[in-house]
Amino acid sequence: MYFEKMILSKDQPDSSLQSIILENMCDGEIAVYDFLNLVLYHPEFGYYAKNRVIGRGGDFITSPEISQLFGEVIAIYILHDWNEKGKPQKIHLVELGPGRGTLLIDLLNVFKKYPDFMDALHISLIEKSDAFKSLQKELLESWSNKNHYALKVKHFSDICDISSQGYLYCYANEFFDALPIRQYYTDHFNQRIERTVYFKNQTQAFEFCDDANIEIEEEDDETIKIAQFLKHIIERDGGRCIFFDYGYIQGSSISTLQTVYRHQKVNVFDYLGDADISHQINFSNFAKAFSPLETKIMTQANFLEEWGILLRLQQLSQTNPNRAHELSIQVSRLISKTMMGEHFKVLLV
Ligand code: SAH
Repeated sequence: MYFEKMILSKDQPDSSLQSIILENMCDGEIAVYDFLNLVLYHPEFGYYAKNRVIGRGGDFITSPEISQLFGEVIAIYILHDWNEKGKPQKIHLVELGPGRGTLLIDLLNVFKKYPDFMDALHISLIEKSDAFKSLQKELLESWSNKNHYALKVKHFSDICDISSQGYLYCYANEFFDALPIRQYYTDHFNQRIERTVYFKNQTQAFEFCDDANIEIEEEDDETIKIAQFLKHIIERDGGRCIFFDYGYIQGSSISTLQTVYRHQKVNVFDYLGDADISHQINFSNFAKAFSPLETKIMTQANFLEEWGILLRLQQLSQTNPNRAHELSIQVSRLISKTMMGEHFKVLLV
């Protein structure tokens, strides 16, 4: 996740979540993967059981929440491909982790100018959080009423349950960095050990069981599983994927876990259940999982510029001169090197 300031704060774990984690320990330890699953997804106390996590009032701000131009450029990319493919009659648009639904609405506001595209459109939304699901349903209902379009939308908690077919456009922003990862290190006997967490009684806080300075290898099993699933769908129905996330292309030998609470980076184990814990995506491995399909990794800035964000900024600023300054600040947050332009990458399949 993207954050702007860095401070450290004191541990304030949710005591219910803390007890649940302790109950799930085996010999006083729990694998990082199982720990993350509980902290992020526990149906009552997990981070994603709550919906006030994204946007200015939440913990982090995402690209679609910064500017509508982010979604507009993705819509242009999709429409261009649809045209090139001879306008397939049935389109299956899949968004992974739509959050507050802002990106989908920005896409629909462009798509609605193309009635053939709208007629072909079937939407599947993959969302684990019930709170976000309700928010997305309300938003789509009000968009449909306002625009007089009866959208064909289905919600799923797991992508493996999607049933629609049709030429696939699957996209996501900051979805994969939320999925739990496994971490490994090599011990003194050259054994590969899965990294675990324990509860330190003296400090009443969770800690990693190993020395913080060792080399860590991360495995994105869930991301790879989803990529392989999508690969089979594309091989069957045709289609494209567009995934934006925080990540790296070359290998990393450190833990990339980070915790963000109200726009500030905090200690990994602080504010458990109330703070966002994410990791960086290894884009080379992510792309490999789609092999033999052709893939391309770009920076967010390169993608947005190549697909016309600056031209669209110019047009929008001319029609809304009083918003020109604000729009240009928003776009520079998305594309500048020091902000989201380079740290965020795009995987195109
Ligand atoms: N794409 C949005 C939200 C990003 S936050 C944006 O850019 O603003 C991550 C989103 O993924 C949230 O909606 C969260 O509830 C959802 N999510 C996290 N893990 C998930 C999982 N395992 N399965 C389905 N949805 C998940």
